[in-house]
Formats: sequence, structure tokens, C-alpha cells
Amino acid sequence: MSAFKTLDDLGDVTGKVALVRVDLNLPMQDAVVTDDTRIRAAAPTVLELSERGAKVLLLAHFGRPKGERVSTQSLSMVVGAVEKVLGKEVMFVPEIAGDVVKQAVGILRAGDIAILENTRFWKGEEKNDPELVKAIAANADFYVNDAFSAAHRAHATTEGLAHVLPAYAGRSMQAELEALDKALGTPEKPVAAVVGGAKVSSKLDVLKHLVTQVDHLIIGGGMANTFLAAKGVDVGKSLCEHDLTGTANEILETADQSGCTVHLPYEVVVSKEFAANPPSLRTCNVHEVAADEMILDVGPLAVEALSDVLKTCRTLVWNGPLGAFETVPFDAATVALAKTAAALTREGSLVSVAGGGDTVAALNHAGVAGDFSYISTAGGAFLEWMEGKELPGVAALSA
Ligand code: ADP
Ligand code: MG
Repeated sequence: MSAFKTLDDLGDVTGKVALVRVDLNLPMQDAVVTDDTRIRAAAPTVLELSERGAKVLLLAHFGRPKGERVSTQSLSMVVGAVEKVLGKEVMFVPEIAGDVVKQAVGILRAGDIAILENTRFWKGEEKNDPELVKAIAANADFYVNDAFSAAHRAHATTEGLAHVLPAYAGRSMQAELEALDKALGTPEKPVAAVVGGAKVSSKLDVLKHLVTQVDHLIIGGGMANTFLAAKGVDVGKSLCEHDLTGTANEILETADQSGCTVHLPYEVVVSKEFAANPPSLRTCNVHEVAADEMILDVGPLAVEALSDVLKTCRTLVWNGPLGAFETVPFDAATVALAKTAAALTREGSLVSVAGGGDTVAALNHAGVAGDFSYISTAGGAFLEWMEGKELPGVAALSA
């Protein structure tokens, strides 16, 4: 792993001004925060810096105001929710640079915390404008990035600031990078990857990268149908990207050359209509899918075989459900394999890392999210990491 500094590398910060990039892009309804997970993720870093006596200025974006002040997207709306999680008073500053911030810094005492305005109100944020970067940095002594979820963007507050101020990874960023390194950077072998979800097209780069990195690639979900079709299987009415069968074959070939074993379902759960517990529900061999049937999940025997694969592995990285898990009983394969992964992790024989919006929802649904070694909630950044891309926000911390 490329070296980055953490809060452990900071000396005495009493009275020093910290700019801390966090993720406060919170789900809201009628100006009320409906889920404070992201605030709780940022809390250890913010509280540590506060307890160590820094003046803490929080930087974050909210929504897509596209360089304009949009009052319904002001970060002033999240102050109450942040205060509640931190158990401390938090000041709001309606700017991110200039005299208003300077005055606020003058008022703050050591250990005080302020939230600056939505960084995306300024056009220079998404353009990574050096002038804006300089102006923000002028009011601070050092920069901490604790927003892995925004690290795939090279914006002023996610990347630019790291080049003009002493830069450190926050605790949540550090935990994410350490977990990801254990999963694909320097993993214990054999490594298995599970890739599921609806479409091959959304995860082509993920698949291409993984086949060169892992020992076992388990493909499930709708995307498995495209691979099955590529192998000449008639998948009936299933979700399938027939125009991508050539690409699927190329991926299988690369896997073969790289010594990666690809596991496709040989037994599937099908039905004629997509509904909960449909009357036409049945389980069959992949070669027995009728023309008017859809594959909606991996079959139970095939899942047992996949569980046996996981038992031989030391590391697992998982993105995408194995079936249409929002509708019963097409959650069965995902739940069963997730439970096996959780049990192996609890026993200490597997390091398990998972990420992706629907994947996290599916693992919560299975009741095992807490048993995985690490769950990433950083949608886009997690996928780009799975594609093997260097994330600009992370690279800047190591520069
Ligand atoms: P993530 O958000 O974790 O990256 P995706 O968005 O790629 O995951 O995929 C999740 C979606 O894939 C779910 O909505 C699920 O219903 C769908 N899906 C999984 N298997 C199938 C299938 N066999 N047919 C149709 N949709 C499927
Ligand atoms: Mg999704």
C-alpha cells in the first residue's frame, strides 16, 4: 500500500486549524436527516482532533448545486444532526474561504468545531481550481481527508488541498484503505470475488480487473445470464445483454490465462413472472430454462457448491447480489452465501470485504453485515477501487 500519513503522525495540534473533508451527503426528507450513518463514520476523526485541541473546520458537499448557492442544499440543515452525533455544539459558517471563515476561526476556541458551507456552491470545487484551493487553505494549518466515498473525484476539497497543506488520512479513510488493502492489495490467498447485480455492462471494468487478481470469480445475478448465453445456454426471458456475449467470452478467456476459476450457476431459480412467490416458481438445471422463463436467483445446490469454494479461500471481496433479492424468494442464494461468508469470518478463516449500495442492503437483509471484516458504504469510489483504478483523493494523500 502506498504510504499515507494518519492522525498518528500529527504532533501537537493545540489551537491549530484543521480542514477536515468528510462525507455529509446525507439522506434528507423535508430538511431532516433520515440516516446519520455518514456522520457516525466521521465522528471518530472529528472528536479526536477536537479532543486534541485543534479548531476543526468540516468541509463537505451536499447534492449537486453545480456551482450556485441553492438554499435548499445548504449544509446549515445538517448542523443539528451533527451536534447530536458528536454530543457537542457545532458552529455553522456560510462560506468556505475568505474573511468570514477567518473571523470564525478567530472566534473558535481550541477543540471547537464548525461546519463550512456546501463546497459545491463554488464552481472551483469540481474544477479543482488552484485559486479556490489556495483561498480555502489560507485559513488552516493542515488538511485531513476522511471521505473515502468522495476520493474517486479530483475536486478542490478532495484532492487539491492535499497538495498545498500537510495532509493526513482520517480514521475512517484509514480503516477503509487498510481493509481494501487486505482484500486486494496484499491479500492472503486464495482470494475469491463475488460479482453479482443486474448487468454486465455496469461492471465490465470490475470483471476485467478481478479475473487478473483473484483465484475464484463467482458470477451471479443478472450478469451471470450474459455469461451463460455466451457459453451457448438458452436463458429464455432472463435479463441478458446478448450484445455483450463476445465481451463475456473475452473475460472468460483472460480468466483462463490468469489462472482464475470462474464459477457460473449450473442450477437456477426461475419463474414466468417477476413477483413475490410466483405460482410458476421452480428450480432447474441451467440447460432446462424454458423460453418463457426468467432466471431470478442461483439454485440451492449451486449455492452449496459456492459455499464450498469460499471454505477453501482466505479472502473474499463481494459486490452485487446473486439474485433479485428485493423479492422473495429470490433473496435465498444471496442470504445463504452471505451467511457462509459471515460464519467463516467469525471463525477467523476468511477476511471478507463487501461494498455497493444494493450489496450493503442485501447483507443487512441477511442480518450478517456486522460479521463481515469490512463493509464499504462508498458506492462509486468502492467500484472504481474494484476496477483497479487509482483514486485521486487517495493518491494525493500519498504524494
Ligand atoms: P450494487 O448496488 O451492490 O453495486 P447492483 O446495483 O449492480 O449492485 O445490482 C443490484 C440489482 O441487481 C438488484 O436490484 C437486483 O434485483 C438485481 N438483480 C440481481 N439478480 C438479478 C436477476 N437474475 N435478474 C434481474 N435482476 C437481478
Ligand atoms: Mg445498485
